[in-house]
Amino acid sequence: MTTELSAGALTWLLERARQDYQDLAERELSLDLTRGKPSPEQLDLSDDLLSLPGGRHTAADGTDVRNYGGLQGLPELREIFAGVLQVPVAQLLAAGNSSLELMHDCLVHALLSVLPGAESRWVDQERIAFLCPVPGYDRHFALCERFGIDMIQVPMTADGPDLDVVERLVAEDPAIKGIWCVPKYSNPGGVSYSDETVARLASMSTAAPDFRIFWDNAYAAHHLTDEPVEIADLLAACAEAGNADRVFVFGSTSKITVAGAGVAFFGSSPANVQWLLRNNSKRSIGPDKINQLRHVIFLRDADGMRAHMERQRALLQPKFDAVARILETELGGTGLATWASPKGGYFVALQVQDGCAKEVVRRAKEAGIALTPAGATHPYGDDPRDAFIRIAPSYPGLEELERAIEGLTVCVRLVGYEKQAS
Ligand code: PMP
Repeated sequence: MTTELSAGALTWLLERARQDYQDLAERELSLDLTRGKPSPEQLDLSDDLLSLPGGRHTAADGTDVRNYGGLQGLPELREIFAGVLQVPVAQLLAAGNSSLELMHDCLVHALLSVLPGAESRWVDQERIAFLCPVPGYDRHFALCERFGIDMIQVPMTADGPDLDVVERLVAEDPAIKGIWCVPKYSNPGGVSYSDETVARLASMSTAAPDFRIFWDNAYAAHHLTDEPVEIADLLAACAEAGNADRVFVFGSTSKITVAGAGVAFFGSSPANVQWLLRNNSKRSIGPDKINQLRHVIFLRDADGMRAHMERQRALLQPKFDAVARILETELGGTGLATWASPKGGYFVALQVQDGCAKEVVRRAKEAGIALTPAGATHPYGDDPRDAFIRIAPSYPGLEELERAIEGLTVCVRLVGYEKQAS
């Protein structure tokens, strides 16, 4: 990444970066780029939900949504999301408001009750490990840490996790029980898995008979361009390859409607769905069907959902464009950083020179710009190269975002040139 600079040029660039940083610090900013939350304006788009279901309390099949029951969730809501999540309606569950909660529960259930195809419970085994493509989502890693599941890093490529590495590891180690995947517009790299990646994940040989792909399709409908990315259907590919039970699909409306009161989904093979329903029946008598009905009335159908996502895009795209524009203007050609321009999702992964990410985040904090801690993109918060910084542009207003990204680029220049000069 480094470009060779003459000593004179480096001194000049470093001096300028120091001056810019001092100016930045004097502005006493208080800006926050930490979490990928929808902005208030995005949440406003779903305000009608707050007055729904407007006195109606029956689902399409006559179910009284106010009462207990219906563990699988309303079929009419599952119909809206079956296509985008690539799960047949009969194999899709609509649950509570958080898909992370479903991932947590799937891990707990797998630890405490035998999975279809498993010989024993995970908790009865000496060691359990998950493959963690990096950079990845910190909350996935936090779940593994919480339950004592070892994490093995796998590098991401432009097509998804490096399948040569994945195939080798899962073929030889029966302790490897799963892999975390965010297959479309990944958090944080914005990567979408290629058809070949999906096909290889579906058909690879695994030493563990109860290996599971945690397919967290959190950004399935979250496009930022006129060319929506379509990924191959992993659930169908697994069934075709004779590995029907291999995948757990997750999704939610957290970043479609409202993050605090949306609906989460789980999809899988009939055997896995029965396994989850059986276990969930011990923890709940049924989900919040009033919220599910309100989502059905609000979104209407799959086209209604897509139209709603266009309104989300109208708010998000200018922010992502601004990030790309400022990074290019301030850092393009410097050799100090690389980044991808994602076609969807919620994040931009900024890769700085090795050994610089923590210091950039620290300097930004001192100048009043809060960033996700460096290392959060890796298991145990430890990025061995100390190179990745996650930018979350959704929440701040456009002007605030622009100031924050400009400030961030000052920190990248300062730390990068300081390192080169040392
Ligand atoms: N998965 C990914 C990849 C995410 O980025 C997020 C939110 N940042 C979630 C899951 C959380 O989803 P939910 O709100 O449905 O729990």
